[in-house]
Amino acid sequence: MARDESQNTDRRTFLQAGAVATASALSLNAGAPAQDAPAKVAAIPTRPLGKTGVNITMLDQGAVRTQNLEGIFRLAFANGIRVFDTAKVYGSEKDFKKWFEHVPEVRKQIFLVTKDMPRTPKQMLGMLDQRLATLGTDYVDLFFIHALGDDHSLDAAINMVTGQEFKETAEAIRKSGKARFVGFSSHNKNRAPIIDAAARAGIVDAIMLQYSPWLEKDSPLNRALDACHEKGIGLITMKQIAGQFFGDRPKTNVLDEVVKRVPMLAEKKLTPFQGLLHAIWTDERISSSCVSMKNTDQIRENADAARRFEPLKTAEIQQLRDAALAHGPMLCADCDGRCSTAAGTTAELGNLTRFLTYHEHHGERAEARRQYAALSAEARDWLGADLEAARAACPNRLDFVTLLAEVERHLA
Ligand code: SF4
Repeated sequence: MARDESQNTDRRTFLQAGAVATASALSLNAGAPAQDAPAKVAAIPTRPLGKTGVNITMLDQGAVRTQNLEGIFRLAFANGIRVFDTAKVYGSEKDFKKWFEHVPEVRKQIFLVTKDMPRTPKQMLGMLDQRLATLGTDYVDLFFIHALGDDHSLDAAINMVTGQEFKETAEAIRKSGKARFVGFSSHNKNRAPIIDAAARAGIVDAIMLQYSPWLEKDSPLNRALDACHEKGIGLITMKQIAGQFFGDRPKTNVLDEVVKRVPMLAEKKLTPFQGLLHAIWTDERISSSCVSMKNTDQIRENADAARRFEPLKTAEIQQLRDAALAHGPMLCADCDGRCSTAAGTTAELGNLTRFLTYHEHHGERAEARRQYAALSAEARDWLGADLEAARAACPNRLDFVTLLAEVERHLA
């Protein structure tokens, strides 16, 4: 869960005392070898990653650049997490290299994912070599095309993962042993048709996607996930939590209010964030959830959620959804761009709010400004847009009037 430190006071209120007692002896001092050893913590449940034949932990440590990442990795590992996710642009691969140098045996005990941004499938071969050199390993478990759809037209993105060149490249990569599996990640507004086409082509082993636990049953994205599941393509979620309960700056203790609105949280002794993870894992199509955990509390809370996972009832998920919507979510989690269409604007309202989430909740201020600056003038220009119509069209009921003012204040 990528929330910044400023939220920790609220979050600690909801941590389950004693649930992570064995982990409490661990510190984030990367130099202490004991951190990799204790593992007296109960194992985190695993699920099959599609038809790869590999089972992965339901919780995946996202490795966006932050302080003392090697210490974070060690704590995540000691808490039972065995999937680690990085990318060239995260700048965190060198921290894995340090970890592997200090504890070489750990490399084979984790499922390592990295990503890069090729324009054409063939470029993946050279890019993978570069990633391996930076990571200090001779193989990764999964190599993703990063953020598919952002730098390609919809047609080009679909061709990228369905064409002959990709098929041959993916086969060459698997055969080389440099990556066991190949796929792509996407948070693009066009990810539903891209994922659907990839499922039909059946070349990729796994897909990582921006996901919401309250996808509409008949939505294109939900149907695309069904197609993946039928084909045995592994699904990993990302960006599922950030901004859900903190869209507006809370004037009251938002988390207290969420707990009041969703009685099952107290009954099951779950924090709102743990409840959201349980809602996601209730979807059996999902193999694992990638969360950019940046501190001890987040790792412990999420690992505890995974160990205590039990599927939620539909009514419980709906309660969580209503509570999340009531508190002004910031991130558009199941974006297909309908807000911009309803508002009659060329502005990419979903992307603008996503970059604001990076700025406000992921602690990625420079990256948020960079991505905002990379948008075209039309994609940024929401003047004259009918923002109330956009809010009405948005399944997450994003408050664009408030959020876009924040976008202007922080990113423009
Ligand atoms: S309607 Fe909402 S969920 Fe869809 S793109 Fe717009 S902001 Fe995202």
